[in-house]
Amino acid sequence: MRYDDSPPPPESAASVSPDPPWYARRSTLAVAVAALAPTALAGWVLTQVLTGSGPGGQPPQPKALPASHTTGAGAHGAGDAKASTATPSPAASDSASASASAPAAPAKGPLAGRTVVIDPGHNTGNFKHTSEIDRQVDIGTNRKECDTTGTTTNSGYMEAEFTLDVSRRTRALLESKGAKVVFTHDADRPWGPCIDERARIGNEARADAVVSVHADGVSAGNRGFHVILPATVKGGAADTSKIVGPSRDLGERIAGNFARSTGSAPANYLGSGTGLVVRDDLGGLNLSTRPKVFIECGNMRDAKDAAQLTSPEWRQKAAEGITNGIVGFLGG
Ligand code: ZN
Repeated sequence: MRYDDSPPPPESAASVSPDPPWYARRSTLAVAVAALAPTALAGWVLTQVLTGSGPGGQPPQPKALPASHTTGAGAHGAGDAKASTATPSPAASDSASASASAPAAPAKGPLAGRTVVIDPGHNTGNFKHTSEIDRQVDIGTNRKECDTTGTTTNSGYMEAEFTLDVSRRTRALLESKGAKVVFTHDADRPWGPCIDERARIGNEARADAVVSVHADGVSAGNRGFHVILPATVKGGAADTSKIVGPSRDLGERIAGNFARSTGSAPANYLGSGTGLVVRDDLGGLNLSTRPKVFIECGNMRDAKDAAQLTSPEWRQKAAEGITNGIVGFLGG
């Protein structure tokens, strides 16, 4: 599937018969026949020559773009700092269907053989499924909500729309470099998944890197991006001791490339200007056994940041920055 703002797929040459009939290879003869004998047959022959469409030829079918994934927004304004702390739930059962992604061409490129899990934060349907996403799930160290609605810009552009769009752009870039990309969801379910399932999808895919895409929702004047790294936690199913180091490497590379690609500055409201924040309260990090970070790409509640976040061109730059960070981390 392609995202809404992607360029249309290149036209294929499928309308041309793979094996031109003999007369197509002898165009002078065909034209001569057509000129000398303007019969229906000769006209048909000429048509074949000029258009290249054989009897089995089909006009190229424009590929339908997927329907927009937007949904009506419900309540607005759940701050993403809280949203990010959403909690996992025990055993949501449909992870397999949620992890579908467009099949990549046979892997070639610097990321061939590598698996990257991209987690589009929240879900546009969460606003309509508050009871489902409010249920508590076990994140090892604590219990938290299954998922949250995420935030919106003041004009109603949903964080969940943003995260899915940037994730899809990132997927396209990663696949072009040969990576296998798995999504935690792709507008293919009404809500969620819960944060424990989001972590599990990365674990079960044995991902070489996992990135959860978000945008923040704090007061105006707070600007910039930050990458959230897992703290060392241990409790229940949570044990990040093996991923803290590589996750920091991944996060630092993403932060550096994101700043370079987008021109955005590290957040001015946390992280002391480093663009890096360590947290121990996010189920999606605590339950991960694979190198994983969150990125908060900007503040949807700040007008200047929102102008960037709502720009397809800027989102492409964001995807490029995330991708380049992953490539650097994986040594591609
Ligand atoms: Zn979020």
